[in-house]
Amino acid sequence: MTGEFELIARHFARPAQSAQVSIGIGDDAAALIPSAGATLLVTTDTLVAGRHFRSDVPAEALGWKAAMVNLSDLAAMGATPGWLTLAMTLPEADDNWVAAFAEGFRAAAQSVGAELVGGDMTRGPLTIGVTALGETLDAPLRRCAAQPGDELWLTGCTGEAAAALAALSEALPVDERLLQRLDRPTARCAAGRAARGLAHAAIDVSDGLLADLEHMLKASAVGAQLRADALNATPAMQVLASALSASPDPWIWTGGDDYELLVAVPPARSQTLVSIWAEQGLSPVHIGRVVDGEGLSWQGDAPAVDPVSSGFRHF
Ligand code: ADP
Ligand code: MG
Repeated sequence: MTGEFELIARHFARPAQSAQVSIGIGDDAAALIPSAGATLLVTTDTLVAGRHFRSDVPAEALGWKAAMVNLSDLAAMGATPGWLTLAMTLPEADDNWVAAFAEGFRAAAQSVGAELVGGDMTRGPLTIGVTALGETLDAPLRRCAAQPGDELWLTGCTGEAAAALAALSEALPVDERLLQRLDRPTARCAAGRAARGLAHAAIDVSDGLLADLEHMLKASAVGAQLRADALNATPAMQVLASALSASPDPWIWTGGDDYELLVAVPPARSQTLVSIWAEQGLSPVHIGRVVDGEGLSWQGDAPAVDPVSSGFRHF
């Protein structure tokens, strides 16, 4: 067993990486210097063991994911990620576990140019709270400005993380790619920055595609027509769906944990955005278009999912 201060010193305190961090870990608060004229964006997400992740998830993967789910919210606003704080509640001070967690967290932060600048450590049921800060010199992308006629595009396919979770909950062997999508998501930060100035609206897909789409549509007071055949199960998802005698459609449309970005972009600008995304190594998917009115309609046979009950809700 190791003390809290030792754990922080050993695993989290590092010299500041950027000149914008004038005081990092070690004082009562971090001191950050935003770029001149920038708008700061701040977001917080908490991961609770047994609710947001399985208790036996590898610590390194949990560290990675805790950072990424917050960075994904910054990505959706078109922000450049800068800084993270980390509030850890741990049942015990297991040095190896904390070391692996810190490694995953730091790797995720570094992959997008962000750094950990502070946090807290307490004892209790395993819970990880992260706050992420980013900045933008232009207006942030929002959920509320989708317009009729806009095309709806995703940065990539959905459903693989939910399929992995289904396999785990049925104690079936899990395809490695599916498991990676669940445990090691990638925040689409560069894609979000590219969308700023091109797309009218954006949201990240964390609660399930239809649920997050609905958030965008409601905020924008518009409806959508979706292409039922836009998203298909990958071979690994198909294999799993047959093993479970289930349809992959709920994973794709309502599963969640995808961390792709969904944008509404005017047709005149969509090809510009899509080619930038493709250059970034993404495989964009055109899922439909924004229409006047409210609610969803389908082009083709609607998938076998219930949009009303879609999306994760805590209360
Ligand atoms: P205080 O009691 O004044 O709030 P703490 O003892 O909680 O200070 O933290 C000491 C320093 O270590 C602070 O700079 C804090 O931001 C940092 N810190 C604490 N826990 C973590 C953590 N899990 N990750 C990163 N930094 C942390
Ligand atoms: Mg203090």
